Amino acid sequence: MHSETNQFSLNEDQKAVLDTANQFAKKELYPHAEKMDNEEWWPDGIFKKMGDAGLIGLTVDPKYGGAGMSYVQAGLVCQAFGRWNHAVALSWVAHDNLCLDNIYRNGSDYIREKFVPGLCSGDLVGALGLTEPGAGSDALGSMRTTAKKEGDYYILNGSKTYITNGSIADVILVHAKTDINNRKKGISSFVIETKNPGFKIVSKLKKMGYRGSQTSELFFENFKVPAKNMIGQEGQGHITVMNGLDFERAMIAPIALGISERALEISIEYAKIREQFGKPISNFQMVQSKLADMYTSIQSIRALVYSVLAECDSSEKKQAGKGKIHMNTSASVMFASTTTNKILDYAVQIHGGMGYMWESEINRLYRSSKLLDIGAGTTEIRKKIISKGLLE
Ligand SMILES: Cc1cc2nc3c(=O)[nH]c(=O)nc-3n(C[C@H](O)[C@H](O)[C@H](O)COP(=O)(O)OP(=O)(O)OC[C@H]3O[C@@H](n4cnc5c(N)ncnc54)[C@H](O)[C@@H]3O)c2cc1C
Repeated sequence: MHSETNQFSLNEDQKAVLDTANQFAKKELYPHAEKMDNEEWWPDGIFKKMGDAGLIGLTVDPKYGGAGMSYVQAGLVCQAFGRWNHAVALSWVAHDNLCLDNIYRNGSDYIREKFVPGLCSGDLVGALGLTEPGAGSDALGSMRTTAKKEGDYYILNGSKTYITNGSIADVILVHAKTDINNRKKGISSFVIETKNPGFKIVSKLKKMGYRGSQTSELFFENFKVPAKNMIGQEGQGHITVMNGLDFERAMIAPIALGISERALEISIEYAKIREQFGKPISNFQMVQSKLADMYTSIQSIRALVYSVLAECDSSEKKQAGKGKIHMNTSASVMFASTTTNKILDYAVQIHGGMGYMWESEINRLYRSSKLLDIGAGTTEIRKKIISKGLLE
């Protein structure tokens, strides 16, 4: 077993990473959380601030401006961001993992040198463009965006939707069909720059949670991308997609852990100060029972999420998308998400009517918890992956 999964507790280096990220997130991200939620506002310059603090490019070699951390350490940063500002955590993970980590792992030397340092410093903002209006769970098979080769370029046409950071990104890892007749294996991956002609933001989407994180529908109209911006080989994009999705699932699960930790913290505070029947509600055993269940659920999420991140560290990076890692990353985010929904339900119940009010922090956390049942492949798709692995 990998050393980090044997420990079942964080070592000193890991504790230091979590502590640093917690301090940064509490000071720099938490103060923006309420305004981001109310106004669907994005704090410009926040990626640069995270970059200056060494909190971007976590899994990238320092040679390219990264921090050279493990997935476990990167997950701890994500957990801290999720705890203090889950909307920033989502945008950060789209940038740092879905875009940057994938480009770094699968890109050529040219691509690494051109894009990775700017993404690590936060001068460039990244996104991933996979899903489309007609291609969600069946993102590969139903994909309609095309990339047609013309000389040294490919010409992209089509739509992408629900793209996190879509309207603020400088660089997007886009998947498109180079062979429209090949259902899954006709896909190729490109790094595109949004400043170039033919890129359009169709709309900024209004959400029930994570509202400050900018989610958009995008359109490519005769968009020219140099052939040298292709990631991997033509027709091999399904590999980039599938191994990216495994790391994505492992890396978004800690957001749920951070949200749940914060929910327990403020539920304890509220239970101690809210008085009914002449005493704090924390005196009532049915409230205590909920707190005990919430704590136990959080400990279970923590154990699974950390051990799967450690498994990502010890896995062969280009071979993800199948086998145990495929099952376990699905299990991690599925358990973290469904359990967080139950934790948030209890947390709102402890807050009573206050928990139902939009302006309460627990309400903001409650409205966020559903997303991780859907994004990065739904609960149903995760169950398909796990059961297929068990039965084959
Ligand atoms: C806030 C947000 C941010 C996102 N960010 C990004 C991003 O940055 N980049 C990106 O590319 N995508 C992003 N997505 C898209 C996300 O990955 C998709 O929403 C997700 O994969 C589900 O696709 P869909 O929404 O089209 O649902 P559908 O695929 O239409 O599914 C609808 C329902 O049918 C079920 N279903 C579908 N197929 C099956 C099946 N075979 N068996 C059982 N049930 C099935 C689903 O589980 C679901 O319950 C984001 C989505 C959201 C909401």
